[in-house]
Amino acid sequence: MRNEIATSGANSENSTAGGAHWNLVEARKIYNLPFNDLLFRAQSVHRAHFDPNAVQMSRLLSIKTGGCAEDCGYCSQSAHYPTGLKASKLMEVERVIAEARRAKEGGATRYCMGAAWRSPKERDMEVIVAMVRGVRSLGMEACMTLGMLSPQQSERLADAGLDYYNHNVDTSERFYSEIITTRTFADRLDTLANVREAGIKVCAGGILGMGETVEDRISMLVTLANLPAAPESVPINMLIPIPGSKLADAAPVDPIDFVRTIALARILMPLSHVRLSAGRTEMSDEMQALCFFAGANSIFVGETLLTADNPGEDHDAALFRRLGLKPMALEQAEMEPAE
Ligand code: SF4
Repeated sequence: MRNEIATSGANSENSTAGGAHWNLVEARKIYNLPFNDLLFRAQSVHRAHFDPNAVQMSRLLSIKTGGCAEDCGYCSQSAHYPTGLKASKLMEVERVIAEARRAKEGGATRYCMGAAWRSPKERDMEVIVAMVRGVRSLGMEACMTLGMLSPQQSERLADAGLDYYNHNVDTSERFYSEIITTRTFADRLDTLANVREAGIKVCAGGILGMGETVEDRISMLVTLANLPAAPESVPINMLIPIPGSKLADAAPVDPIDFVRTIALARILMPLSHVRLSAGRTEMSDEMQALCFFAGANSIFVGETLLTADNPGEDHDAALFRRLGLKPMALEQAEMEPAE
């Protein structure tokens, strides 16, 4: 397997574009440090590479909702579960661009577009390409999440100017088949490799609170850190249990464990933007503050994510004021952080 987890070898916090060789033993040791030591280390790594008070802001739009053929146990959009979500067709390009323009006026620098597909069909590619070009023409970064991509589809999106492709590994390789049975962990890594090969930046992370162990979380982060190049963006989601889905009754994550996971992501992937993603509505301001201190430096803004609720802009603005945080400018978000 292309991305098997190294079980030995040196690690490096200064590794730039991946090729790191973190092993599970070392990662576990870091994760289990006394909480204050872990946070101090994560914050030190964070400060060495980023402005500690700047947070990158992205906006997300569902361009095709529901009716998905995949059976991801956490998702409201899977056709396998009676979640009550109404499916919709692929949005028109003009509407997507109008929404992106509004997001830019609201301070977002990156526009993320998601479609509930196993993979895009050839007949949809032209529309998708037009969306990417339209968002780029506004001076924003464009990100998409469309399911599995072939090398050819990846090339086409790269040619259109797509900056990022989101494709989460979700959890550890061991736990993957407990959550999704319609594709494999290896399928995920194949698409990530296709995207990277095409020259598109990678956004890949996972979800906590699906019944996985702490060891699964550590293993997932080691997999991401040890990719040939670490993802530029690492979203860490907290499961919002969806009534009707397979994980409707999942137990909530311990907030301290969540912060520890953010800190470990920051330490294993020092140059990546670590994104506090879905689940912020369930987090207290104090928990979010700890996540920012642990090295999270990216969020989604807006009232909704693909289908889930998100804190409103007023709440985020108030939290940013209380914490002295500021939105990260596009130049900073784009630039390779200094060594
Ligand atoms: S997570 Fe994506 S691939 Fe999985 S069911 Fe939901 S929309 Fe489909």
